[in-house]
Amino acid sequence: MLTSSSPAHAPKPTTALGPVLIAQNLYFQFGNQIVLRDVSLEVFPGEVLAIVGESGSGKSTLLNLLYGNLTPSQGIVQAISTTGLQPLSALSQQTLRQLQRSRWGYVCQNPRDALRMTISASGNIIERRMAMGLRHYGTLRQEARHWLEKVEIDPARLDDLPETFSGGMLQRLQIARTLISQPALLYLDEPTSGLDVSVQAALLDLLRKLVSKEQMAVLLVTHDLAVARLLAQRIAVMRHGEIIEAGLADQVLDDPQHPYTQLLVSSVL
Ligand code: ADP
Ligand code: MG
Repeated sequence: MLTSSSPAHAPKPTTALGPVLIAQNLYFQFGNQIVLRDVSLEVFPGEVLAIVGESGSGKSTLLNLLYGNLTPSQGIVQAISTTGLQPLSALSQQTLRQLQRSRWGYVCQNPRDALRMTISASGNIIERRMAMGLRHYGTLRQEARHWLEKVEIDPARLDDLPETFSGGMLQRLQIARTLISQPALLYLDEPTSGLDVSVQAALLDLLRKLVSKEQMAVLLVTHDLAVARLLAQRIAVMRHGEIIEAGLADQVLDDPQHPYTQLLVSSVL
């Protein structure tokens, strides 16, 4: 069921620039289970769109479809490439991987899944930059230092192994590694969920700063409405694989239209 504020009619941010990601009528199945049903959305440069919903509602699966790690059973995903919007289905595996490294960025919940724990912090950042073609060691090291500073890790830790980092620092390192390519499109899957509350707050603050400085389009997946309120301008609510309500963050959170959204909002107040 779609409310009157369904994604197709949801207010768009005021930007002269067109969307950098368009998903149209996506369906996805794991075996016989339909995990996503008729999902459509658009994301614009400079905005954060949060996809919220309970565990198991299909948020991570959707993000993986939008990033090109999974292929929809039906529907089209178009994302920004070096030559404008491109349907992901038209890209070779090689081009897709290249875009994932150079134009898009993905931050997952558990940084240990993304980082290499046996090479230094700077090595993790530099590796990503080298994959984009930069080779000069001195410059690479300088960049690694710069990005550690940006995510508020002491640059004296440059040569330390991630193994010696706290959970919050590991997540910051994953963010530095992702942002060094200055992605046009950033995917965040529960970026703060694995952390202690005080560490979460500091990391959210950092993310807010980083996101507002860059002209990135951000897709944020979270089960936590407080996280969505802090970072997102627009919110789409997922339930059982469908977007049941979407709109400006304040509208969705302060004046939810769908009974399920009303329940979600009231249960955390
Ligand atoms: P969320 O991120 O909102 O918690 P997911 O996208 O991870 O939800 O999962 C949505 C549904 O898809 C769940 O019912 C989950 O059990 C199922 N699912 C997720 N990944 C797989 C998989 N690799 N194989 C089979 N089912 C899966
Ligand atoms: Mg998930």
